[in-house]
Amino acid sequence: MISRPSTAARLRGGGVAVALVLCAVWLVPATGGQSETGVHAPSVLYEVSFPEAEHRWMQVAITFTGLPPVPLSLRMSSASPGRYARHDFAKNVFDVQAEDGAGHAIDPLPSGIARWDIEGHDGTVRVTYRVYGDRIDGTYLAIDDTHAHLNMPASLLWGAGMEERPATVRFVPSPGRDWRVATQLYPSDDPLTFTAPNLSYLLDSPAEFSAFVDRSFTVTDPSDSEHTPTFRVALHHDGTDGELARYTRNVERIVREAVTVFGEFPRFETGRYTFIADYLPVASSDAMEHRNSTVLSSPGALGTQPQGLLSSASHEFFHVWNVERIRPRSLEPFDFEQVNPSDELWLAEGFTNYYGALILQRAGLVPLSDTLRRFVSAIDTVRLGPGRQFRSAVDMSRLAPFTDAATAIDRTNWDNLFISYYTWGETLGLGLDLLLRARAADGDGPAVTLDDYMRLLWERFGRLGGDTPGMVAQPYAQVDTRAALADLTGDPAFADDFFDRFVEGHEAIDYAPLFARAGFVLAPQGARGGWLGAAPFRFGREGARLIAPAPFGSPLYDAGIERDDVVVSIDGRPFSSAGQLDQAVANHPPGERLRVGYSRRGDIRTVRVTLVQDPRLTLVAQERRGQRLTEAQRQFRAGWLGSQIDD
Ligand SMILES: [Zn+2]
Repeated sequence: MISRPSTAARLRGGGVAVALVLCAVWLVPATGGQSETGVHAPSVLYEVSFPEAEHRWMQVAITFTGLPPVPLSLRMSSASPGRYARHDFAKNVFDVQAEDGAGHAIDPLPSGIARWDIEGHDGTVRVTYRVYGDRIDGTYLAIDDTHAHLNMPASLLWGAGMEERPATVRFVPSPGRDWRVATQLYPSDDPLTFTAPNLSYLLDSPAEFSAFVDRSFTVTDPSDSEHTPTFRVALHHDGTDGELARYTRNVERIVREAVTVFGEFPRFETGRYTFIADYLPVASSDAMEHRNSTVLSSPGALGTQPQGLLSSASHEFFHVWNVERIRPRSLEPFDFEQVNPSDELWLAEGFTNYYGALILQRAGLVPLSDTLRRFVSAIDTVRLGPGRQFRSAVDMSRLAPFTDAATAIDRTNWDNLFISYYTWGETLGLGLDLLLRARAADGDGPAVTLDDYMRLLWERFGRLGGDTPGMVAQPYAQVDTRAALADLTGDPAFADDFFDRFVEGHEAIDYAPLFARAGFVLAPQGARGGWLGAAPFRFGREGARLIAPAPFGSPLYDAGIERDDVVVSIDGRPFSSAGQLDQAVANHPPGERLRVGYSRRGDIRTVRVTLVQDPRLTLVAQERRGQRLTEAQRQFRAGWLGSQIDD
């Protein structure tokens, strides 16, 4: 089947605009290598089938026609949009075969770990292969007798130089299985056949092929009453219809709250956004954003942990604007064969993390105490993280290829050298939001908040769109984020101070006076006893084994105790549980030097360890401490954490 412009014109929502941009695809000039120029290139046809789904492999047939008279270079991706480390998907591909248009077999020649050359064809090549997949998440491919859960870079080979060709994807039904498809791919007249306007959109379009249950709702764009995108929730789970209904209602609250930040929805290419959720005991925890959809996976169930599952839906939906359209230049165009190192993940992921939590709070889907606990935990992680002395939030962003579900067999020291850009970025978003609100309340700056900052980035970089569906015409650079803050506040010195100290520098924001504006008290936990540091132990009969590097600057580190050492006694007394160890330490005040016995590779040693004060903080509403809120605090809090939907 071939994608025709008439298909696009039938699409829901902005059909004319979609048809126009689709036409533009045919005219896009070639970029790089053997790309095609200016011709109406034929669609690449993918047929995916699951003859032995229980054995967890998928059969793929790809038909290329109208090929130029040069070898066809087939590629398997090593990177997936939204994932920042390398994932070599070619390892699961096997049984690759090819034939030409006359049915003559051609041996695929491997030319690298993820490439095959098809030489001597007649302009048509039909490739077949199988690919194994057994991980249910947002990154990989998973097939079993209940579903096929496809992340496209983990599933589909593609032809180099044919990136601008449209693609058609046909899901072949299996006998006895009444499976349907949930995807952001463009629909056609056939419910199992879809199209993509180009390779980039195809590989960004995950699909769930199963007997999922689904619900849809529409939300009118606050800026345009004619614009009413559809939101579909497609759920593969073991739960009840009541859980689906409640989940859909809550997702709708998230959508309605999120759009108030930007004031408008983007123009979803097919007029629809899809939440694909696989909540199954065998699923891995993950959530992945895409242009017009998200994949949410978890071993948890809606019946037992609805709040945690909504939290990732909230984060991913914010990505509709921040990262999918307000997009760092480092990720656009996405290179499917390389990692895409980025300086801006503190904003792209970190601010999204902040808004994921803020929108849940504003939508009333989480207790205030949970949000406060989350914020203080993030603040402590950054404030106390040893990595902050070595690297800034921008530097941490650049480490994503090593840390974002990346695999390595050697031990690393990330506990001391890395602070997640999700967490650090969340605290930067939180801090900047509060700083802007405090300045506005004092008359020291314009009446703007972080919502206005996001809206300005949207107007400058996101809203514009582009001629190529799924691509961002005007991605931003790190320097643009600083300039936008200067313009928003009319105060370049404020923007420079914030970026120099907190984003590109190593300082932590002083949150206590900012939280006080909203009537929250940020204070030490107030434990009277001493503390050994945030050292993770595993307890057993032998004692407490340190199972991660000793935190730089902690009492254990300073005493020379390191990973794999087993602490066996405190002040000469053995212990066998976390409770006993905590008790032994808490009985002594900070500053006291305790005799600690430990075993290193069987060698028993004794050292003196100087206890410190536990530096961790708590964050509580001051009314919980019997202090009344002032009117100014009440207003500050409502403007920040209250629902922004006016009705
Ligand atoms: Zn994210």
